[in-house]
This record gives sequence, structure tokens and C-alpha cells, in this order.
Amino acid sequence: MKGYNIKIYPNKEQKILLDKNFGAVRWTYNTMIIVNQKKYHRTGKGLSGYDMQSYLPKLKKQYKWLAEVNSQSLQIACQQLDKGYTKFFKKQGGYPKFKKKNSKNSFSCITNCQLLEKHIKLPKLGLVKFRGGTKPQGVPKTFTISKDATGYYASIIFDNGKQEIKMQEINNVIGIDVGIKDFATLSNGVVIPNQKFLLQSQKRLKKLQQKFSRQEKTSKKRQQTKILIARLHKKIANQRKDFNHKTSKAILNLCENQTHIGVENLNIQGMMTNHKLAKSIADVAWSQFLNFLEYKSAEAGKYVLKVGTFFPSSKTCSSCGVVNKSLTLAMRVWECSMCKVKHNRDKNASINIAMESVKNWFSKYQSGEKTVSLEMILKNIKSSSLVEANKLYLKV
Ligand SMILES: [Zn+2]
Repeated sequence: MKGYNIKIYPNKEQKILLDKNFGAVRWTYNTMIIVNQKKYHRTGKGLSGYDMQSYLPKLKKQYKWLAEVNSQSLQIACQQLDKGYTKFFKKQGGYPKFKKKNSKNSFSCITNCQLLEKHIKLPKLGLVKFRGGTKPQGVPKTFTISKDATGYYASIIFDNGKQEIKMQEINNVIGIDVGIKDFATLSNGVVIPNQKFLLQSQKRLKKLQQKFSRQEKTSKKRQQTKILIARLHKKIANQRKDFNHKTSKAILNLCENQTHIGVENLNIQGMMTNHKLAKSIADVAWSQFLNFLEYKSAEAGKYVLKVGTFFPSSKTCSSCGVVNKSLTLAMRVWECSMCKVKHNRDKNASINIAMESVKNWFSKYQSGEKTVSLEMILKNIKSSSLVEANKLYLKV
């Protein structure tokens, strides 16, 4: 799956219809939450995604204006809400929140959408002009239209036709640890530092947000600050995307001899409850990076293996396996009390991630003939990590 993001330029009538569509999707989503809550109180059970979608025609009869907008977008809103509830009940996310008018406006559609040379074609809207870079290969699948203070956008997800990959024989693995201090540390010793421009933009964002909260609520200046914030968010998103594309590509170039890449499965729930700006921006960057790494790996015939969130990758000694419970976040280097090996915190974590992902692979795909043994791969990981840490600087 690949994404293609473009700025679109709707005409006057299209803008009106788009705004109506945003409103209708938001209203439907919020109404379904209320209906769900009522049903839950009455029966102890909520509505399924299917129930919600079959309730739509009734709503349309009662609220005629709903029929003016693209009906798929309303169905998709129901499906998204259903996903939200599923996550909530699996304890992977919070209770679905009402969409507010001034939050992100968006809707999605799948059928009867087309990506043409200079236009996108959407149901009920017709042709809408756009500007954008090189189109990805494959079939455009889902179109998501959104609006913020800087304008209207379309994000198109492509299906690049890759079939579910079969698990290939494992021979060598590289582990990646992601962090705030350095963006990524590889088990072969390569370090990819965090990008200064992102930190600078973050600082500027913080300042603007403080300014915004101090300004008079109805003032014109506050409105201007709001636009500046929205623009900066967009800039950060673009910088981050660019960096993540380059980083994931560079890592794959380094992994010529590896069939598999071990990463940590990020704790999504922890990510959502974190309110610190720097941390939350880093979280978004990591999940996008892993996403890019995954699809680029698949294209290169390699596989990303995920290690469980609760695996103590930092605290485990990669030499002898002892867990150092007293290790704090501030300790960048430490010595194992058992085997006396000195560790660089992130490098040790990345070696552990590599080794754990191999162990998981072996416990899952043990059957069949193997050309290499678990011990051999673990030995490989350790010996490749002996390479002195080179800082890999990416030109951005
Ligand atoms: Zn040790």
C-alpha cells in the first residue's frame, strides 16, 4: 500500500459541496455514537458496522440533506467508527470521540473515483484540479479528501498489487531500535541521528502554540497564528515524510546481506496517551517510518519482523541475557553486572531486537528444512555488531 498526497483546487460550487460532505460525515459519525450509546444502555450491546450502515437509509429519509452528499463517505464513516469501537473493546484505543467542527475535516470514498492527468474525479463532485509530484505505480484504491486552514487535500492509497508474501528462509537479520536521542540505531552499529530541522520546526511550533493560546479569542491576529500553525504542521509532516523515505531506503541499502529486519512493535496505546509534543511527534515519525520500511522491504523481497511491546530490549544484556532492572532512561551506557560487558544503550537494544525477532521466527516457522540454525544466526548478529559505530548522516 502506497500513499499519494496532493493539494486539490476545487471551484466555488465544489467547495460548497465538499464542506457539506465534511459536515454530513461528521454529523453521521457523531449521531452513530449517540445511537450506539443509547442501544448500549438499553441492551448492553452496541451496533455492529453493518447495523450502522443499514441504519443510514432511515436517517436519510428523516434528514433529506444527507442524500445530497456522496453516500459511500457516510458508509465509510460508519466503518471507521466500528473500527474505533473494536479497538476500544480490545483495549487498543480510547472510546470514540465526537468529531468537532473545527477539528480535521475529512471523508473517504472508494468506488467511482479516478485519478486522471491533472484532475481527480469524485462522485457528485466531478473533476477537481490538483497539483502533485510523481504518481505511484499501481491502482488507486481509497481517496480521502480533507481540509484545513491551508486548503483542500486528497490522499490516495494505492494498491500496488503485491500479494501476501510467503515467509522466506531466514539467514541474517538486522535489528533496529528507534529513539528520541538518535532516530534509529542498527544492530551492525550504524546510527542515524535525529534531524535538526525537525527539532527546529518543533521548537517553532511550540512557540506559535503558546502565542496562540495567549492571543485574544476573537482577534484577527489569532486567526493568522492559526494559519501559521497549520502551515507549520504541514511543513513538519512533509519534512518527516521526506526523511522517513530516505532513511528507510538507506537502511535497506545497508541490508543487502540480510533477509529479515527486526523492529519493535510500537505501543499504540502508550502513543495516544502521551501529551508531550516532542514525544508525540516522534511517535508519528516512527510509525510512518516503520510503515515505509515495511512496504519497501516487501518490494526488495525482505521481511520486517516485529518484536512484542513488552520485550525488555533496552534492559537485557545482549551478551549474557541478564535483565538489568535498575537501568533508567538517562543511562546511555552501562555495564552488565553479570558478564561485565559494557553496553551502548541503543545498540544493545537493537541487537536484542534482532535476536528476539529471530527466536520468534524460529518458534513460528520451525517446520520444514532449514539451511541455517538459530545459533548460527544469533552468532552472525553478534559478530556484525562488533563493527565500530559509524554515524550515518543522510543528506536531506
Ligand atoms: Zn551480561
